[in-house]
Amino acid sequence: MDSTQQSLNLYLAAPRGFCAGVDRAIQIVERALDKFGAPVYVRHEIVHNDLVVSELREKGAVFIDELSDIPPEDIARPVVFSAHGVPKSVPEEANQRNMFSIDATCPLVSKVHRGVERHYSNGAHIVLIGHKGHVEVIGTMGQLPEGAVTLVETIEDVDALDLSQHKELAYCTQTTLSVDDTHDIVVALKAKYPHIKVPHGDDICYATTNRQLAVKDIADKSDLVLIVGSKASSNSNRLVDTALLYGASHAYLVDTYEDIDLAWFEGVSDVGISAGASAPEVSVNGVIEYIKEHFDVTVENVITKKENVEFKLPKMLRAS
Ligand code: SF4
Repeated sequence: MDSTQQSLNLYLAAPRGFCAGVDRAIQIVERALDKFGAPVYVRHEIVHNDLVVSELREKGAVFIDELSDIPPEDIARPVVFSAHGVPKSVPEEANQRNMFSIDATCPLVSKVHRGVERHYSNGAHIVLIGHKGHVEVIGTMGQLPEGAVTLVETIEDVDALDLSQHKELAYCTQTTLSVDDTHDIVVALKAKYPHIKVPHGDDICYATTNRQLAVKDIADKSDLVLIVGSKASSNSNRLVDTALLYGASHAYLVDTYEDIDLAWFEGVSDVGISAGASAPEVSVNGVIEYIKEHFDVTVENVITKKENVEFKLPKMLRAS
């Protein structure tokens, strides 16, 4: 088949890509580099995107797993905590060692942290719905003493729970989960523990929710959906799940156009494209350009919602 002759309708979902929390976190690292020079240490990937991380690395950011990875001669250099949030022990260690820390935790993750603290101080045991091992989950669990939070990932986990020793219960969630899956888990939790207290407002953030809604809109008219995002990005993976659940025959996560396999397009006439909250628009454009090089493309923007959320930078990094 001569693929250059194949016609494709490309449905471009909006909103897609960077959310306000990711934008703020990247700006924090960039401005810290401008103001204080290199190196600026960053604990964990600032956001889960390989291109963003490698560009910041080129500008002088040094990504580390733990504060102890900072060499003694650089102990006074700035260290930024990632958008996903950190356990309380991390800023405590930084303070004890007189380090210069800058917190890039997304304000919507911080809101979840304050919620679990409030419920705990009112005597509740916390059930956290989230993915085991995800850095945000580690950060949220680390707001409270060990044993104060029980993690559940599935309805089966809820079935297996025995929290009869706790009189008060409250639940919270990771911010980047599937809205549909989480709803089902919450229903199971409430059925089992009708007195369980609910979060103030949704823990799943506006960006995750809006990107899933936008993918639902393109999925039912697409044979193939491509989600631009890195493998470690929870919200990007959930967009792939959403596309498959809402009608796409195939959906793939691609970091860049280089991950695309042209065989995916055989027999396909309608392709949806979106991007996770940590994926830069330049990667989305790369994917579109690559597809245009190989097919006869008509692009349609499918705008599900407009976003105008912005988060303030920490005072010390705001333009004066
Ligand atoms: S995905 Fe949501 S919680 Fe995560 S950084 Fe973006 S706005 Fe914040």
